[in-house]
Amino acid sequence: MRHYDSIKRVLVTGGAGFLGSHLCERLLAEGNDVLCVDNYFTGRRANIAHLLDNPNFEVMRHDITFPLYIEVDEIYNLACPAAPIHYQYDPVQTTKVSVHGAINVLGLAKRTKAKVFQASTSEVYGDPNVHPQKEDYWGNVNPIGIRSCYDEGKRCAETLFFDYHRQNKVRIKVARIFNTYGPRMHVNDGRVVSNFVVQALRGEDITIYGDGFQSRSFCYCDDLIEAFIRLMATGEDVTGPMNLGNPVEFTIKELAEVVIDMVGGGSKLVFKPLPSDDPRQRQPDIGYAKKALGWEPKIALREGLIKTIAYFNDYLKNGN
Ligand code: NAD
Ligand code: UDP
Repeated sequence: MRHYDSIKRVLVTGGAGFLGSHLCERLLAEGNDVLCVDNYFTGRRANIAHLLDNPNFEVMRHDITFPLYIEVDEIYNLACPAAPIHYQYDPVQTTKVSVHGAINVLGLAKRTKAKVFQASTSEVYGDPNVHPQKEDYWGNVNPIGIRSCYDEGKRCAETLFFDYHRQNKVRIKVARIFNTYGPRMHVNDGRVVSNFVVQALRGEDITIYGDGFQSRSFCYCDDLIEAFIRLMATGEDVTGPMNLGNPVEFTIKELAEVVIDMVGGGSKLVFKPLPSDDPRQRQPDIGYAKKALGWEPKIALREGLIKTIAYFNDYLKNGN
């Protein structure tokens, strides 16, 4: 259902967060009517301040664990803390956001017949025994560990998406997002890219957890948002789950060396204990996304880091 002037009405939950703010920006640039819903747990008003003058943009402070009664054509469900220290701060709430949040957006999609996109995660694969990870791998997840609130919450959300799809014909798009970085990451979120960049800019030691030989594959935010838009535009046969990320894999030690090289300064590597259940390796197989979306990331790590370093440099000097 479209409203009278046929501008698409798009809801972005978690729209004031890192990825959500980039998504709102992109959706507005394409002429959509965007409603950003956020409770500002990890998101910041500063992330969307530059959008507030746009007459097609609206912001609502709301906790997505409670139902929302609005009329929409598309929903992107991003509301959920994504960084381990944030999602472990209140693990019960993390599971609630994933599960109750999914039920609420799916209920909304069912009533309004909106398409609904779920920001799922590579964490559904846990500490994977299969490398690289493909969508048909069921994962290796500890159900009772310190990451479980997030991993199992997101897994249950996927279950709900597919059950609403089978049972109620809700049109779903489930993306499994691999580590993504860029401007507007939270300065204190403890994720590896923001930590290393901020530490290097401050001339502090770079904290490597474990031996630094665990791997991740880092996608720049603009590449990821492009994939979100393409996935949402696919036909009903494409539901996902679909891996979205950059398949170029780095060890954490390699990442630290690249950041030090790019920022300069005298930061040294220091080694700290590896948090429990920290996955040893992670790399997406993006064959499905390439085929279904005609998409692959274009921005190499060093190119994305230039913009990320510039953002944090400005943030540390000027605040905001
Ligand atoms: P983020 O923490 O910056 O954004 C999450 C947003 O959700 C924040 O604005 C936060 O305030 C909001 N939020 C949290 N709880 C809420 C609630 N109950 N009601 C309303 N809003 C709430 O993180 P991000 O990196 O932008 O991640 C966005 C989504 O993408 C998350 O669902 C995350 O799980 C998923 N994801 C991100 C990555 C990544 O590398 N960035 C990887 C995998 C999955
Ligand atoms: N990590 C690290 N030093 C830091 C922050 C993170 O060595 O200061 C490691 C962390 O243990 C993990 C990897 O970097 O192995 C990625 O961590 P992040 O929290 O960014 O994401 P996730 O573990 O969820 O992929």
